[in-house]
Amino acid sequence: MNRILKLLTGVAVAVFLCLAAGAVQAQAYILVLDPGHGGPGASGLGCTYPPYSEKGLTLDVATKLKAELSDIPGLTVYMTRTGDTFLSLEERAMYAKSVNADLLISLHFNSSGPHDKTGTEVWTSAFGNNFTVGAALGQQLLQQYTAMGLESKGVKTRLGDRGDYYGIIRNGVAVGIPTIILEHCFLDYPTDRSILEAKGTQGFAHADAVGIYNFLNSNYGMTRGQAAPAASTASKAASQDTAKTETKTESQAAAAAPAAQQTTAIASQTKYGFPVDAAGNVYYTDASGSKATFSSADWSWLLSQWSYTSDAEGNLKTLSTKDLQTLLEKHRAGQM
Ligand SMILES: [Zn+2]
Repeated sequence: MNRILKLLTGVAVAVFLCLAAGAVQAQAYILVLDPGHGGPGASGLGCTYPPYSEKGLTLDVATKLKAELSDIPGLTVYMTRTGDTFLSLEERAMYAKSVNADLLISLHFNSSGPHDKTGTEVWTSAFGNNFTVGAALGQQLLQQYTAMGLESKGVKTRLGDRGDYYGIIRNGVAVGIPTIILEHCFLDYPTDRSILEAKGTQGFAHADAVGIYNFLNSNYGMTRGQAAPAASTASKAASQDTAKTETKTESQAAAAAPAAQQTTAIASQTKYGFPVDAAGNVYYTDASGSKATFSSADWSWLLSQWSYTSDAEGNLKTLSTKDLQTLLEKHRAGQM
């Protein structure tokens, strides 16, 4: 009898622990921020444009971004480096794996040989769910940067002879973690630099935080710990904070626009940039205005295929409604 009781108690405790762990797990999301470059020498520096060095900017933005994300219950944020240290791309991915990351974001700043390139771009894996997650997050981030006046160069994929071309993406995906590279802007382009100077690294960290928050909110239903994300509350919170301290004024003013956009996105229930209903059906409109409705399953499959229909430079094509329907017909006929 005693043994049976003990056994029953043991089972009850085990069930309770499993349920508790399950409850915690359902809420938990682990994000690793990877400040690009770091350590001695030219490779440690990343790109430079005096007085800026990429390794300093990425660490600065990552540190401020981690702080900005601290009010999302269930979200845990880690950084691959917190000082000026060298880490290989593989070590960065292994670190993300060691903390059980759900997502790895590598933060960078760009420059170009002829100093004639401008804008913000996001690189993601070309494959399956890694692409789907990266593209969804990338769109949210790009939306924040176009709102600040930077040109969007889009969400891009690039293939090399080992799969994904970029090492951090290849290594991240190899350990099962969707990974993106965010190239904030071109340090050697006057327009980009003036926006960076006006907004500061705090402004860029805030834009990243809003993009990440919108992604977590629309795909996982995660919400901020305080202020409900209603338009009136958001702007009220912003103006209250503005009144509090003078140093906060600038960043809170910058916050007002993205916060308003964020509420619109939530209100209209968009997924991957298109309206979605409660059943998960996605309402797609192409560039010519032609509309189609795709089921959640069909939409996921289409997203996983867009990587194979990108152009030579890795830019994603904007496909017509008809093209998408043709792809689906081929898929159903077992040809894709
Ligand atoms: Zn870089």
